[in-house]
Amino acid sequence: MSINNIAVVGAGTMGAQVALLMAMYGYDVILKDINDHALSIAKRKLEQEVRASRMFRRQGVKADDSVLERITCSTGYAGFDNIDLVIENIPENWEQKKALHIEMARYGNKEAIYAVNTSCIPIMRIASLHSQPEKIVGWHFMNPAYGKDIVEVIKSPVTSAETLETSVSFLRSVGNRSVIVQDAPGFVSNRLSHLLMNEAAFLVEEGISTPKDIDIIFKKGYGHAMGPLETADLIGIDTVVNSLKILYDSYGDQKFRCCPLLTSMVEAGKLGRKSGSGFFEYKLQHSS
Ligand code: NAD
Repeated sequence: MSINNIAVVGAGTMGAQVALLMAMYGYDVILKDINDHALSIAKRKLEQEVRASRMFRRQGVKADDSVLERITCSTGYAGFDNIDLVIENIPENWEQKKALHIEMARYGNKEAIYAVNTSCIPIMRIASLHSQPEKIVGWHFMNPAYGKDIVEVIKSPVTSAETLETSVSFLRSVGNRSVIVQDAPGFVSNRLSHLLMNEAAFLVEEGISTPKDIDIIFKKGYGHAMGPLETADLIGIDTVVNSLKILYDSYGDQKFRCCPLLTSMVEAGKLGRKSGSGFFEYKLQHSS
């Protein structure tokens, strides 16, 4: 199956990066969010991300402002009947994802592949909302999507071989290697990484160490590029909390109980990089 027409739904942290990645490789993209306010934030974010993407040079790929001309921002479903590929990036919240997928199953192209960028939600749960569940697949992009060259591709029990093959070849066409995993809450990446981020938050809450020192141990001691708390700030503390909730509810295992410090940070609006403050402080580059 060839992919020519692409829509990215949800223009937040990941949606903007994913749309930019596609545009950098020459694809035209519709970027859809819920209202004009969200889109105006997304437009500022895209400009910021183009600048940031230059730090991750990709061979033969242009990352100047002209790539933004390939991204058409929208709040409606115009053009969706011709879309071959939808990449969904709305918040890690089952009720919101469920409502959107029911809507897309009604207004979108039934023949399209729906790639779900989720941290923890099982792909089969989303596939069950569509009339062609074999066309639903998980594409868990890493952050920043234009800076990392692997995507965790999640195969639900009914994802077809054609959907998987198209996923792998399309992702290759935008410079990414696919690592295919079976469907389970949190997949591989987040089932592991969220344990680490959550436990690091408990260490801070208990006064055992500081965010800075915890991250230094991981960076200097274990050679990780980023520490667990810097990573939590990059992902967004709200997204981390939502993901832990899904892991806890899915496995019923205490090891995924969310550290209360993370919940109170969300209540205080300390969401990490996107709000300017989390475990560390950041210069906010766009206002909401
Ligand atoms: P975010 O909160 O930054 O952005 C979500 C965007 O979706 C917002 O702009 C919001 O307005 C929009 N939205 C909400 N409902 C919508 C709807 N019905 N239709 C269209 N747009 C809608 O979230 P994010 O961090 O970009 O995460 C998106 C998804 O990607 C989540 O499932 C998350 O778990 C996953 N993910 C996040 C990261 C990360 O580092 N943040 C990495 C990999 C995967």
